[in-house]
Amino acid sequence: MINNLIGGKLVASTSGRSQPVYNPATGEAIDELGLSTAEEVNAAVANAAEAFPAWSALPPLKRAAVMFRFNELLIKNADAIAREISREHGKTHDDALGEVQRGREVVEFVCGIPQLLKGEFSRNVGPQIDSWSDRQALGVCVGITPFNFPAMVPLWMYPVAIACGNTFVLKPSERDPSSVMMIADLLHQAGLPEGVLNVVHGDKEAVDALLDNPQVQAVSFVGSTPIAEYVYNRGTQAGKRVQALGGAKNHMVVMPDADMDQAVDALMGAGFGSAGERCMAISVAVPVGEETAGRLVEALRPRVEALRIGPSDDPDAEMGPVITADAKTRITALVDSGVEAGADLVVDGRNITLQGYENGYFMGGTLFDKVTTDMRIYQEEIFGPVLAVVRAANYDEAVNMINDHEYGNGTAIFTRDGDTARSFSNSIQVGMVGINVPLPVPVAYHSFGGWKRSLFGDHSIYGPEGVHFYTRLKTITSRWPTGIKQGAVFTFPT
Ligand code: NAD
Repeated sequence: MINNLIGGKLVASTSGRSQPVYNPATGEAIDELGLSTAEEVNAAVANAAEAFPAWSALPPLKRAAVMFRFNELLIKNADAIAREISREHGKTHDDALGEVQRGREVVEFVCGIPQLLKGEFSRNVGPQIDSWSDRQALGVCVGITPFNFPAMVPLWMYPVAIACGNTFVLKPSERDPSSVMMIADLLHQAGLPEGVLNVVHGDKEAVDALLDNPQVQAVSFVGSTPIAEYVYNRGTQAGKRVQALGGAKNHMVVMPDADMDQAVDALMGAGFGSAGERCMAISVAVPVGEETAGRLVEALRPRVEALRIGPSDDPDAEMGPVITADAKTRITALVDSGVEAGADLVVDGRNITLQGYENGYFMGGTLFDKVTTDMRIYQEEIFGPVLAVVRAANYDEAVNMINDHEYGNGTAIFTRDGDTARSFSNSIQVGMVGINVPLPVPVAYHSFGGWKRSLFGDHSIYGPEGVHFYTRLKTITSRWPTGIKQGAVFTFPT
């Protein structure tokens, strides 16, 4: 049974409600997860609130020291964490290692927290008056995270929050919660005091309890758009600061002058890596012009047919299974809808079985051509190994298509022309843009966030925006000595 972590101790939920955790490669239930009640969640928040005064009062350098040790432990244990991720998520070992590294880089970033929290000082803003501003921690912050990056997405949140002086309650995905527990243990080995990070497992009941709890000051959410919008509305109505990152439909424009080999390699990795279960996955390829489209589809077809699918410990596997049997059914139904709507099914990944893994949730790569913008396979996030080619007559049509889409997480353009690339990056209504880079996931010292219905709230996540999200500005104006006698002043101070 996978338990909650409260006040540094593993505590079993007494709700009587639990659900299995599966190995998606075999379809076997490998563990059981207790689902917390609202009371259990509130107890975790209360514990984090108790830990806040002492933790926030520590000099930032001391909090950074914990992060330095945590970073070292993450390096030492990366392989074991990656195996734990793959066992419950199904992604290949190398892909899981990449996830651990990108998460760890956020820890590396917050090792510099004393510098990041430094304020501004102005001497003599008035007669013997000085003024300074700095950023202070909020209190208890919470994180609610998705299944697709079970280690990295939580690491986008709590290291930043904790380094800033907050305490934190994390509610990980129910589908693959074990790597979170392993990493939380390392953070405690690094010297984190009990109660600064608590982990509660659960479903909607646990999430609602976090959103309604008056002791919670800020909520970071990453997951699907309908839930992101719900979390944003409910959290902000309760007076909390909320950043809620949602789903995506990421387009990659291929211009006639692009290096076609490079573009095809990019589409393969960004479309099918992690079985397409990335919020930055490219799910729509937009070749500009019929000639480009013909060349692109002909180059993609044999590559998608030859995709190597396998369990995470197969070193030759390029992608693993999808997360659940339900996900496989949902993705298959969306592919069916594309066929019914008249898209050209170039490669059909619906009906594959892997010898020895007949009960696993494996799918092959699917490639559609001649998809149009009125089809569900274009409009909806599929979150599976399905790439749709939508042909655009010219550059403007490609740009307008992307700008009209409800999501605005990531996008890319492949071209050799600097003017086109510059115009694209200026005018595209998307938060993260790649120029000849298919997965433009910002590094830890920038910040990650989409536009439109891919992000609800005013702050992107991690990097400098993360530090701003988890702190608030205080400005102090002071006068020394008290020698000046002005009497009462009734006009506005100037
Ligand atoms: P999800 O929305 O189903 O779940 C995310 C979290 O919300 C989980 O912790 C879950 O327990 C909780 N939750 C689910 N239903 C809820 C409800 N009705 N009320 C309250 N809480 C609820 O997402 P998922 O399937 O785990 O993850 C995939 C989604 O996440 C995709 O849409 C993907 O694009 C998105 N995602 C976005 C980003 C980003 O940075 N924008 C990153 C990773 C994943």
